[in-house]
Amino acid sequence: MPESKSPLSRLGLTSPAALALHLPIRYEDETLLISIDQASRGLSQDAVQTQGKVIGCEVKFRPRRQLVVLIADQDAELTLRFLNFYPSQQKQMAVGNFLRVRGEVRQGFFGPEMVHPTVKQLLPDTPLPQQLTPIYSTIAGVGQITVRKGIEKGLKEVSVKQFLKEIIPLSKIENPKYTFLKELPSLEESIFTLHYPDPIIDKQSLIERTHPAWRRVQFEELLAQQLSLQRAHIERQKRKSPQMSNQSGELVNRLLNILPFTLTKAQQKVWREIANDLEKSYPMNRLLQGDVGSGKTAVAALAAAYAIDHGYQVALMAPTEILAEQHFRKFTPWFSELGIEICWLTGSLKAKEKRIAQEKIMNGQAQLAIGTHALIQENVEFKNLGLAIIDEQHRFGVRQRLQFHSQQGDEAIYAHQLMMSATPIPRTLAMTYYADLEISVIDELPPGRKPILTKTLKDSRRPDVIQGIRAELLQGRQAYWVCPLIEESEVLQLQTVVDTHLVLKQELTEFQVGMIHGKMSSEDKSAIMNEFKQGNIQLLVSTTVIEVGVDVPNATLMVIEHAERFGYSQIHQLRGRVGRGEAESVCILLYGEQLSLAAKERLKVLRENTDGFVIAEHDLSLRGPGELLGAKQSGESMLRFVDLQRDAWLVSLVKDFAHDILNKSPQLAELHLQRWLGSRVDYLKA
Ligand code: ADP
Ligand code: MG
Repeated sequence: MPESKSPLSRLGLTSPAALALHLPIRYEDETLLISIDQASRGLSQDAVQTQGKVIGCEVKFRPRRQLVVLIADQDAELTLRFLNFYPSQQKQMAVGNFLRVRGEVRQGFFGPEMVHPTVKQLLPDTPLPQQLTPIYSTIAGVGQITVRKGIEKGLKEVSVKQFLKEIIPLSKIENPKYTFLKELPSLEESIFTLHYPDPIIDKQSLIERTHPAWRRVQFEELLAQQLSLQRAHIERQKRKSPQMSNQSGELVNRLLNILPFTLTKAQQKVWREIANDLEKSYPMNRLLQGDVGSGKTAVAALAAAYAIDHGYQVALMAPTEILAEQHFRKFTPWFSELGIEICWLTGSLKAKEKRIAQEKIMNGQAQLAIGTHALIQENVEFKNLGLAIIDEQHRFGVRQRLQFHSQQGDEAIYAHQLMMSATPIPRTLAMTYYADLEISVIDELPPGRKPILTKTLKDSRRPDVIQGIRAELLQGRQAYWVCPLIEESEVLQLQTVVDTHLVLKQELTEFQVGMIHGKMSSEDKSAIMNEFKQGNIQLLVSTTVIEVGVDVPNATLMVIEHAERFGYSQIHQLRGRVGRGEAESVCILLYGEQLSLAAKERLKVLRENTDGFVIAEHDLSLRGPGELLGAKQSGESMLRFVDLQRDAWLVSLVKDFAHDILNKSPQLAELHLQRWLGSRVDYLKA
């Protein structure tokens, strides 16, 4: 028979750490009581608490089955309405009983009412609680009171006291920079405060999580995270990588001559940063960030030439075939002129071609391999991989990033890694989660670029928009038409593209209108992209498959339909497909009739801003770090108590503190990590 689990273990609160840190998700203020009359007159958005005697309790069937309870005090009445209810509730709220209720009051058909209030049955003279009521996250079948009692009992255990002992003596801090930390309450005191707030506590700061007790917990959590990342950094410095220091620079110089432009200052700066890393004996772990069109590819090419010059192979990997192919097309003329052998490897190659590519990679004949995930599959082994360049790395999983090392004798040699991303990581996020990642930013666009003009238009303006496209195409320009995102149904999405394509073809008979979507074979997709690139297709109707990397400088107009369904970064990425040449480009965001406030705000931000970093900050505040980091990197390593927007200053303080502790008292750092992360330490290392 299965052992019946206690409520706390059902919640996973089996260790002292889990129990003590199962902190309230919020607090309810039940210390205040107002009369029914006051409650009804306020009709506020906020929950209020009132009480009264039940004078009516019946199940009504119109408009649907519901329990309607009427309570009254000496001068007013209030309706309570329950659409779902148990027989036990009917009993609890029987006529004559006395109830204390908490909820929002709204104006109902028959006067003021509360829908689904929290209800307590008690005696009229039951005193009000003196302190805020903690509310815990829980699961079905385990009530708040059970959790509260369980935690109360658990906190008395010796093992919990042990867990909460001070490890790092904050009170002894001398450096004035850390005075804030020095004045924080002890961990034990903080935990107790958070579970049992003092009646006279500053309620606001408790609720907003800025109270010193919260700060202490946030500090602890951040410290563990920063220590773990900084330690990973130290570990990386102990690893061996191909060393590239006997630089002649010949190949790089030749490539610089081949490039049809001179590097921007920003490109030169990041290239120096990368070259500097490549000379080191430990693996580079660098992210090259730059807005769409900032010229990351050329920088990546220089890095590739540098590694090849030192006799190493280079892999360039992209998350989709379209993207990989874009790189292949760009790199091929450059590198074949340098006399370098490039090989192409993706999953869609025929078995024989694949085998040939794999062989060339294994015997070292291929100096530069470009492709997709296929490059890191088991049967591919590079002879001497020196540098892995990974485009749009956040679209690959963490695990895949780790696979670029090889065994030489009993020594592991780690390839240098250069990640590229056009999705800017907000500074706060980078500082917190990417402490073991060096970041280079190209913060300047190549000269002569005209900023993209973004307009927002109601969907009903479609005929004008089509006229606009015609005018643009007549000037020999090209355009994209991006179809709405339909998350619920791929079939519907496909249908939309097909329909739109048909309509636009009929409207613009004098032009070639092409179509591209994710359900097409990669050969078909490439063929269409190629036609578009050649200018044989003038208007390309697509889904978001063109989101990243596609580069057609003659395309100067983009229409995004139902733009309100897209997120910040999607639109920003899409929009980056235009404005790649010398001509003025326009992006039109068409929106549907019913715009939510959030969507309106989003479109406005996008219309007014073209800087990817500004947009990324908006995105962060909207979605939180989890989504921006990608599911793989969030999960366990997410911070539970820290809010990056609110606590950014704390992050930077703790970062420095972590650095000092690691240097001065590595044993304390270790103890702290064990307390906080236990088995999660390894996870964070990745
Ligand atoms: P990203 O990958 O950062 O989006 P790309 O490397 O694809 O950008 O560059 C975008 C376009 O700008 C390409 O057509 C490229 O040839 C061009 N380009 C890159 N660097 C420069 C430069 N320094 N001067 C002029 N044009 C450049
Ligand atoms: Mg690119």
